[in-house]
Amino acid sequence: MTKSTIDKSTREKLYSQRGKVFWMTGLSASGKTTIADAFEKTLHESRLRTCILDGDNLRQGLNKDLGFVEADRIENNRRVAEVAKLMIDTGLIVIAALISPFKSGRDAARAIFEKGDFVEVYIDAPLDVAEKRDPKGLYKKARNGEIPNFTGIDGSYEVPEQPELHLQTAELTVEQSVQRLIEYLNARL
Ligand code: ADP
Repeated sequence: MTKSTIDKSTREKLYSQRGKVFWMTGLSASGKTTIADAFEKTLHESRLRTCILDGDNLRQGLNKDLGFVEADRIENNRRVAEVAKLMIDTGLIVIAALISPFKSGRDAARAIFEKGDFVEVYIDAPLDVAEKRDPKGLYKKARNGEIPNFTGIDGSYEVPEQPELHLQTAELTVEQSVQRLIEYLNARL
């Protein structure tokens, strides 16, 4: 691969920050989007350069040819990881929020980053809590058989074994989750 003269570390120096991806995985309605948004707001207030890659939004554009069968979920995961890689090479702090239910997919994503640049964050809410929240009514539809392969209902979710961060959103407020993320980042600047 041809290397450009202006590389990741050059851009990081310009921005006075280190490019990283916070990869938020968890059930639908566990809080990924909500926490990603609040985390980004806090980073932005500290004048850090950020970008959110939200699985749902990407499925409207880049990934709109993909569905929810296993092969498509793997491809969805792969594309988001590749886009995140391009972005962190520009020195950004990337927050990727996507269910990414399979361990193999998350490990494959981790493998394309330099050590320490990929931060797996398990956004953990028990299924009954997520189902009660159901902000988009998706669980209701899945229970009615309107959405096949819905993660947690008839689609599997493989719990992260060793995530860098484990945020239990039935116990932590959004602000507390953001605090944990900020502490993690500050310890590694
Ligand atoms: P996901 O992106 O994981 O599908 P969302 O962030 O879209 O989840 O939805 C989570 C819902 O749960 C939101 O409506 C949010 O306001 C609500 N919620 C309630 N308590 C919490 C919490 N402690 N942390 C995160 N989200 C919470």
